[in-house]
Amino acid sequence: MFDYLIVGAGFAGSVLAERVASEQNARVLVVDSRNHIAGNAFDFYDDAGILVHKYGPHIFHTNSEKVFQYLSRFTAWRPYEHRVKASVDGQLVPMPINADTINKLYGLRLTCHEVDAYLTSIAETRDSITTSEDVVVSRVGRELYEKFFRNYTRKQWGLDPSELDAAVTARVPVRTSRDDRYFTDKFQAMPLHGYTRMFDRMLAHPKISVMLNTHYKDVKNEVRFRELIFTGPVDEYFDYCYGKLPYRSLRFDHQTHDQDRYQTAPVVNYPNEHAYTRITEFKDLTGQKHRKTSIVFEYPCADGAPYYPIPQPQNAALYQRYKALADTLPHVHFVGRLATYKYYNMDQVVAQALRTFEKIKETSPAKAERHDETVEPIVLNGHGIEAA
Ligand SMILES: Cc1cc2nc3c(=O)[nH]c(=O)nc-3n(C[C@H](O)[C@H](O)[C@H](O)COP(=O)(O)OP(=O)(O)OC[C@H]3O[C@@H](n4cnc5c(N)ncnc54)[C@H](O)[C@@H]3O)c2cc1C
Repeated sequence: MFDYLIVGAGFAGSVLAERVASEQNARVLVVDSRNHIAGNAFDFYDDAGILVHKYGPHIFHTNSEKVFQYLSRFTAWRPYEHRVKASVDGQLVPMPINADTINKLYGLRLTCHEVDAYLTSIAETRDSITTSEDVVVSRVGRELYEKFFRNYTRKQWGLDPSELDAAVTARVPVRTSRDDRYFTDKFQAMPLHGYTRMFDRMLAHPKISVMLNTHYKDVKNEVRFRELIFTGPVDEYFDYCYGKLPYRSLRFDHQTHDQDRYQTAPVVNYPNEHAYTRITEFKDLTGQKHRKTSIVFEYPCADGAPYYPIPQPQNAALYQRYKALADTLPHVHFVGRLATYKYYNMDQVVAQALRTFEKIKETSPAKAERHDETVEPIVLNGHGIEAA
């Protein structure tokens, strides 16, 4: 009998596995349908020996000291401040738009103060801000919107910004200073030996068993457990009874090139040309020295693994129906980006998992230390689960 069955070995599942095992002395089984831990943050050494992120670049940044301190138990860090350039009008310019972006694009020499006035002069007045288009046009005007945002958003979401919630572009700041960092958070760093090593250490607790290549439906009737922590898609849990929650997906094209550097920034965005949205060069992120370089192209697409919940009011309403069902199950905890149908950064998912643990503690107190009980190894046979 397990105390917890945890579905998903990404941030949500792994943080909770570590917490309940360490603090509650609980026996935990973590299952993941993929053949690796770490969820979308999974990184690995490719054929050339370069550390790459399988599911696109994952940059850690947070303002939460609590989250940073918690993860620091499992990894040392490499300081890293992310920088992105956008290919616009044949030039590579800083993204988010800042003073240098505008000066380079228009051949100007505006001071930071003048950039503010310039943006105010080109911004369009909108009565209300409801869509992504409203957000951007009311801040930087139509021309910069067309150059940087409109086509990128269309590629990324398969929708025009006028069809998307304002919240989508609220994540894309504009600066009047010359600060060209992509994020301004207090803590910005990459796990020194990569994300997967950090997850290895999180899941190394003797009370935690991990089964890979194992879908929830393979074990749900085979394993006995007290509480379920589900970090997979909430609509899947309820057999899509109200219909599927829509997601946008990505196709990743990983390449290795026999040259030291491929591009002049860690990430280059292509708002207008090409079918891909951006190219990432991994050595910049990890600091690895290697005579070759590995990069990834991202092609947004409709079908494939669920990556980005599509932020439209009808989808939020559909999610609320699933949430109402989820709220009726006191022993099932829905945590993480798929189970709560929301795009979260890694730190937000860690924070959500830590908050969930605090709630779990109230209803399910820690057990006394039991030295006689260790987790038996488990093997999956053709029909289900058996103790080895
Ligand atoms: C392209 C891309 C880039 C990103 N870049 C950043 C970034 O730079 N910085 C940042 O902070 N965040 C970034 N994120 C967000 C980050 O990936 C998420 O915050 C994080 O992965 C969420 O963790 P999670 O545990 O909720 O979900 P996941 O990492 O998706 O983990 C869920 C796990 O559950 C498993 N699972 C699902 N259903 C089942 C089932 N039924 N049975 C068994 N297993 C199941 C899945 O296989 C998966 O491994 C990015 C996301 C994407 C898509």
